[in-house]
Amino acid sequence: MAITTINPYSRKMIKEYKEETADSLKNKIGGIRESQAEWRKDIDSRISYLREVLKPNLLKREKEIAEQMTIEMGKPVSQSIAEVKKCESLVDYAIANFGRFLEPEPVKIDGAKAYVRFDPLGVVMLVMPWNYPLWQAFRAAVPALVAGNGILLKHASIVTGSSLLIEEVMDTPLFKSAVIPGSRALDLIRQVDGVSFTGSTSVGESIGQAAGKGLKKAVLELGGSDPFVVLRSADLPKTAERAAFGRLQNGGQSCIASKRFIVHADIFDEFRSLLKDQFSSVVMGDPMDAKTFLGPLSSQEQSRTVKSQVEELKSMGLVERFGKDEGNIIAPVIASTDELYDQEVFGPVAVMKKFRSNSEAIHLANETPYGLGASLWGDPDEAEQMVPDIEAGMVFINKVVASDPRVPFGGVKKSGLGRELSRYGLLEFTNIKTTWIQSAP
Ligand code: NAP
Repeated sequence: MAITTINPYSRKMIKEYKEETADSLKNKIGGIRESQAEWRKDIDSRISYLREVLKPNLLKREKEIAEQMTIEMGKPVSQSIAEVKKCESLVDYAIANFGRFLEPEPVKIDGAKAYVRFDPLGVVMLVMPWNYPLWQAFRAAVPALVAGNGILLKHASIVTGSSLLIEEVMDTPLFKSAVIPGSRALDLIRQVDGVSFTGSTSVGESIGQAAGKGLKKAVLELGGSDPFVVLRSADLPKTAERAAFGRLQNGGQSCIASKRFIVHADIFDEFRSLLKDQFSSVVMGDPMDAKTFLGPLSSQEQSRTVKSQVEELKSMGLVERFGKDEGNIIAPVIASTDELYDQEVFGPVAVMKKFRSNSEAIHLANETPYGLGASLWGDPDEAEQMVPDIEAGMVFINKVVASDPRVPFGGVKKSGLGRELSRYGLLEFTNIKTTWIQSAP
């Protein structure tokens, strides 16, 4: 069987890739394991690899990586470049901090020397989605590699070219890409020591089950339907500008995109009108054009799904569109409703709802199976008081939810298990090893 990639803007085939055999995958995992036996020993050489190999490769191939992502999944090229730069800053952060984060932690115990070591687990498989082809792979791979593990990447099929390019950029026997469809990924979990999955909640549940069956460590970063709560105290023009960014960046195909706009009734009409202005002025078109902000969705299947969700929303309230759909490009949409719509919309569609008190805003923010991010807009003291009651892994005030190497990333409820980034993410694929030494029995 072959894996075919298609340019979602031109809708033409890019390339066909031959699927790997089970034997080839077994050999790959064996090779990674062999190299990992040496790699695990020395943190300094791992940090040197980041400085001397990975960072220069990223810088050298920035444009090539960005264009490859844009061709395969339709992200506007300016956003692809920003994604590569974000990976460069993750590598810089890792160089500056990860060695320190992995140092053994002393524990004070009378009569004994004790400490906690952070040793690697072995080979970690990454199963990744197409929406941020480089960033998703990097934010899982770089910490796991620096912790001393080897990596097998099973990327989304539609970005197979990006996956193979990432393997070249990584340029180490510790990191290999597997060219297989998702249906074959579960079988590989038995052969590795941990799995990091980013993608839909339904596939995440299957990965979690397979990992649980083999008692393998799993980190699951799943779907989200983040609330964007606008308090009466918010600066409306600036907030509307950030709302448009939060909803439309990457074509709205982000797990942490602002998806549900929960707005105080007194300012609802004014805020919606400002958001309409923002949505009407967005530049849509060819993602290879540096001026484009909203390109096509990643595939025909994805655009069909979003179009059918817009049809569903029409039966629930007022749906307004800002521009003309063309091919896989979907023009921005605002849907205002009083009803509960609990599906994740992976496209440029803002669902708006009114609230009358902050406790009602919290209730509406939590009215979702997901719990990834949430953003609150308005007086920071007023908003901060709401944070403990928001069911999400990340709450941002007056800022669009974002991943950042310095802070943990992850969710609760149907948004997943575990964390990525920061020291918390770095330690996920380590053996947290207690060491207790007494001078005599
Ligand atoms: P997906 O269908 O779950 O695919 C993700 C990965 O899983 C791909 O590599 C896919 O491979 C593989 N896969 C598919 N079926 C599988 C199966 N039965 N067993 C094992 N692996 C399988 O997700 P998607 O549509 O690409 O991505 C969108 C979803 O990801 C959204 O829900 C979004 O919110 C979520 N997401 C979450 C985060 C986060 O950090 N929380 C970040 C980004 C995206 P193939 O491509 O070969 O099918």
